[in-house]
Amino acid sequence: MEAFYEELCKIITKENGVLREEPMKNHTTFRVGGPAEYFVTVSVTEELQEVIRLCNRCGVDWFVLGNGSNLLVSDAGVRGVILRLAGEFAQCEIKENVEDGTAEAVAGAGMMLSAFAMALAKKGFSGFEFAAGIPGSVGGAVMMNAGAYGGEIKDCITKAEIVTADGEVTILNAEELELSYRHSILMEKKGIVTKAWFSFPIGSKLYILSNIEMLNRKRREKQPLEYPSAGSTFKRPEGYFAGKLIMEAGLAGKQIGGAAVSEKHCGFVINKDHATATDIYKLMQYVTEQVEAVSGVRLEPEVKLLGDFSV
Ligand SMILES: Cc1cc2nc3c(=O)[nH]c(=O)nc-3n(C[C@H](O)[C@H](O)[C@H](O)COP(=O)(O)OP(=O)(O)OC[C@H]3O[C@@H](n4cnc5c(N)ncnc54)[C@H](O)[C@@H]3O)c2cc1C
Repeated sequence: MEAFYEELCKIITKENGVLREEPMKNHTTFRVGGPAEYFVTVSVTEELQEVIRLCNRCGVDWFVLGNGSNLLVSDAGVRGVILRLAGEFAQCEIKENVEDGTAEAVAGAGMMLSAFAMALAKKGFSGFEFAAGIPGSVGGAVMMNAGAYGGEIKDCITKAEIVTADGEVTILNAEELELSYRHSILMEKKGIVTKAWFSFPIGSKLYILSNIEMLNRKRREKQPLEYPSAGSTFKRPEGYFAGKLIMEAGLAGKQIGGAAVSEKHCGFVINKDHATATDIYKLMQYVTEQVEAVSGVRLEPEVKLLGDFSV
């Protein structure tokens, strides 16, 4: 694989743009995960395309990382390339349409949702407050159709630029992205969001900023933000709340190794005390079995698993 590494380094000119055996625990909000064989930071679309094509030629797997806030990486780590989007991917542009008072905003997939939400709020554009407290990137949020407090990406996105599994650039409009509850087309058809366009109505700056503050306060009150986690571990089953089902199964505070079901919010599995990815995985499995036994409802993970979990 030395030849592959050398080729990668020719594409990525940024200093420290190609790291080997980089611990993924440094790049996930669970703070767990073994080493990534190659951890590659790309700054422009052409670099990304070239890396994808190189991987395809050499039969090397690749995976795109956002902020690692919905990700459980195995303790054994990941073979292949982990791609992180920085540089031009971490910027946004907001243009006001004076005729109808709306904003067209384009955000790079590597930009944090909180930063994008604040940029919009400061210009007085409303409708993205729901995302300000979600600790993900724009790309990860499009992929997951992230949502909170009655809002979701689907409500405001107009189109997205995608680098396909062949390394081609294409544009998908909102409909083609097939966004639904925690779902997008990218879950069936591998591709990388590089940027996304949104449309927002004009609002009152003061109201938008206080709305963000209020929603963030709600999060701090209800969620165990003092512990590493990946947010809601399980999807909301139709007609139920995962957290409530977990509580009713008597699992609040249940611990396996260093992983625990949060007592503050049972929908969160937290890294309570130096958990391993295996602890978290085993607890997720245990919760799934127990909830099904008690309520007959089968929970599905919202968190994405990466690496080998066969133990
Ligand atoms: C404390 C906490 C609170 C949370 N609250 C919420 C909430 O209220 N609502 C909610 O929806 N989620 C919530 N989450 C979960 C998480 O923040 C979201 O799912 C977020 O959208 C994930 O974005 P990310 O950039 O961290 O993606 P990652 O975790 O890095 O990746 C998640 C998936 O998206 C893919 N992906 C990432 N970037 C791209 C890209 N550019 N193109 C294509 N695919 C990509 C990855 O390959 C992976 O499959 C919370 C998490 C935490 C830790």
